[in-house]
Amino acid sequence: MATRPADLLSALEDLTEPSRLIARLGGGFTPALWVVGGAVRDLLLGRVPADVDLIVDGPLGPVAAALGGEPVRHERFLTARVGGVDLARARRETYPRPGALPTVAPATVAEDLRRRDFTVNTFAVCLTGPERGTLRCAPTAERDLAERQLATLHERSFLDDPTRLVRLARYAARLDFSVEERTRDEIEAALTAGVLTTVTGVRIGNELRKLLCEPDPVRAMVALRELKIDGRIATQLGLIDDQLARRALALLEPEDRRDRTVLAAALLGSSAEVAAQLLDRWGFPAEDRDVIARTVAQAERVSRRLEYASAPSEIDWAAGGPDSDPELIALAGAIHPANAAREWLVELRHRRLAIGGADLLTAGVPAGPAIARGLAAARAAMLDDEAPDAASQLAAALAAL
Ligand code: ATP
Ligand code: MG
Repeated sequence: MATRPADLLSALEDLTEPSRLIARLGGGFTPALWVVGGAVRDLLLGRVPADVDLIVDGPLGPVAAALGGEPVRHERFLTARVGGVDLARARRETYPRPGALPTVAPATVAEDLRRRDFTVNTFAVCLTGPERGTLRCAPTAERDLAERQLATLHERSFLDDPTRLVRLARYAARLDFSVEERTRDEIEAALTAGVLTTVTGVRIGNELRKLLCEPDPVRAMVALRELKIDGRIATQLGLIDDQLARRALALLEPEDRRDRTVLAAALLGSSAEVAAQLLDRWGFPAEDRDVIARTVAQAERVSRRLEYASAPSEIDWAAGGPDSDPELIALAGAIHPANAAREWLVELRHRRLAIGGADLLTAGVPAGPAIARGLAAARAAMLDDEAPDAASQLAAALAAL
């Protein structure tokens, strides 16, 4: 490997969290702090680390005391949060039964590296104490990094923790890594043994949510599919048409939810009820669940409606009005009428009337369904450039009633 530990240490010292810690604790501090996992892997790959995971080679108390913060401790997992920094004690993990949460016990850094998911995630650099600057990793980690492949550390890995199957797809997509041959066999064996049924839906959901928030969630869903993991999570789950999902994403604006859109694309064909049940099982927040379930169930129908719409008011009506879900319209547009969907997403949905229900009441319209009908007529006139201001919109509403 081209990068020497000394270069790694200085690259780490350029990152905010490690530099702050070294400034506050001093380079000689013991028990030693180590940076582990993704940050070191990313530096070795020449990528910018997303976040920095730290472990302490000993009790957390002295570090917390030196940082002067009252630690928020999570004894069961030997972790603490002190002064905005997350620390974990180096630990060993044992799995009481497949798929269960591990029991943890204090251990050495070397043992901590052995509990990790993939060899390329076992790199650790010592930040403080006598070993400062030392690089450690699993025996095959450097080879796997050079060959750009994901490999487990032992053959029971996916049985111990099946959520690693989803993590694998996420890393494969993000890092553009392949899956080592023996690990492929382990995946197949684990899936055949039905390991995904041993973990709670929420833990699978947590990993799915991370996967959907990747820079390229489509690629990550495709990786899940190529490894045949998606259908084992749920028979309804699987991104069959990745180009469809890409077209939908291309229609979204930056503030829209890519994660919801991709998951809806991967659940197309399910009914709203089935989709909602799955999303509940995976612990999705209620709003995400409702939007995704609606999108899954209605995308085809809205797509057909958009196809026959041409005037702006018709497009807006076909889309379901200004408060419709952008994920639904994007997916509908990806199925067929991209131009109508784009017009609604980029422009129509943002246009608002200058009048409201109160104006119609003042004008003598009785409270009740007539108000909504009047406003809909005013909106249609506004979108079709026939009612640019409040007076003409009011006139359009009253004319329709
Ligand atoms: P990212 O770049 O997304 O932060 P990461 O590799 O840092 O990726 P995290 O989810 O932050 O991943 O986890 C930190 C480290 O903890 C990982 O590098 C991995 O070594 C280890 N880890 C996390 N989850 C598991 C797991 N389920 N099984 C084994 N090791 C895990
Ligand atoms: Mg991390």
